[in-house]
Amino acid sequence: MKALVGLLFLLQVVTVANAQRVCASEIYSQKLLSSNPSIKSGWNKADAQISATLKAASSFVARDTTTNETIYLPVVIHIVYNKTIENITDAQVKSQLVVLNDDYSNSNIDKINTPAVFSLLAADTKIKFCLAQVDPQGRKTGGIVRKYTTKEYFSPEDGMKSSAQGGDDAWDSKRYLNIWVCNMSGRTMGYSSLPGGPANVDGVVISYDVFGTGENVRSPFNKGRTATHEIGHWLGLKHIWGDAICGTDLVEDTPTQQYYNYGCPAFPHVSNCSPNTNGDMFMNFMDFTNDGCMNMFTIGQKQRMRALFAKGNLRNSFLLSFACDSTLAQGSALPIEDTIPVVTVTTTIHAKQSAGLKVYPNPTQSIVNIEYINTINSSPKTISIFNVVGTRVYTGQLTKEKASVNMVNFAKGIYIVQIEEGGNKLTSKIIKQ
Ligand SMILES: [Zn+2]
Repeated sequence: MKALVGLLFLLQVVTVANAQRVCASEIYSQKLLSSNPSIKSGWNKADAQISATLKAASSFVARDTTTNETIYLPVVIHIVYNKTIENITDAQVKSQLVVLNDDYSNSNIDKINTPAVFSLLAADTKIKFCLAQVDPQGRKTGGIVRKYTTKEYFSPEDGMKSSAQGGDDAWDSKRYLNIWVCNMSGRTMGYSSLPGGPANVDGVVISYDVFGTGENVRSPFNKGRTATHEIGHWLGLKHIWGDAICGTDLVEDTPTQQYYNYGCPAFPHVSNCSPNTNGDMFMNFMDFTNDGCMNMFTIGQKQRMRALFAKGNLRNSFLLSFACDSTLAQGSALPIEDTIPVVTVTTTIHAKQSAGLKVYPNPTQSIVNIEYINTINSSPKTISIFNVVGTRVYTGQLTKEKASVNMVNFAKGIYIVQIEEGGNKLTSKIIKQ
């Protein structure tokens, strides 16, 4: 009898352990650091950028960087599979995108489960995800790459991110959020690189059996929250308990908590370091609770994430990534920035009053005229021209109402003309023939 009780106890412990969320981000970072100590300077730089951006804002409310505009993140999913079951369907991938967009905009239907005292802090991050529509060469894509591997599983050591190691190389991590979906060793569900790490391994990794929703994902991690959590790390968030007993996540509106929560605690769950009787915010995406029990990011977490996109900061380049726009895809590769010849700009006074941005002739073989008249503000405006993968290929000033740019040496294809004035941006497409 005693032996049976003991066995039952053991089974129970094993069951609980198997049901716990396992995020390997912390272990991954420590391993990376021990093999390459210089990596810390990049992480510190990203942390310093976030801190400085948040500090520069006049108030907690004023901290929404980039004027709260929607940030679009083109995502590429690298499915690295050995067995057929690991080669997840497009539908499963798309179900994950739905979850990400719901969770990051606070439009997840289970937000009704957020306790009232915390729901006031729940945030629409104004960060949106799309499957990339344009690949790094400017070609049309669905944003999903499938690659067979002879490896039966991967450990959190980046093998899946390298073609040479049986994985698939990253797309330009300044323009794309790379997500690798593969079979992870042990019980690891996923991990993320930290902002400021090496560019070729920047991104998140999710085990194929907890990616997306539907029949093929395992309960209680079948609501796509592993990716929500890991992308939170990629966007600079720490675990809500700060990875230390009563630690800090550097976010001021998440309550201090003693340790992580798992399973599905009842509210309130008060610990030794709870600031008040509301206790832990165990329903936060950055805790370790089950998918069905987490449902919010806070305003403070939103500010921390968005700070990475502020001017001069690490992920600012994403604001110039146009890979969510399928109309920009084309057949041939575009030149890289360094190969674009210098072009001259001449400005002329244009007597005709016209509103908005005009770009003509379109298409053009050489000269393109750019007109923008703002009757309220006559200050100089910046003109930029980007290729379809968001590389800036031209910069100039619109000091009068009209500028002419000679595109004769540009490769044929689609470009985006952007006028920037203060925080406002106007864009127009131009086709070079
Ligand atoms: Zn984590």
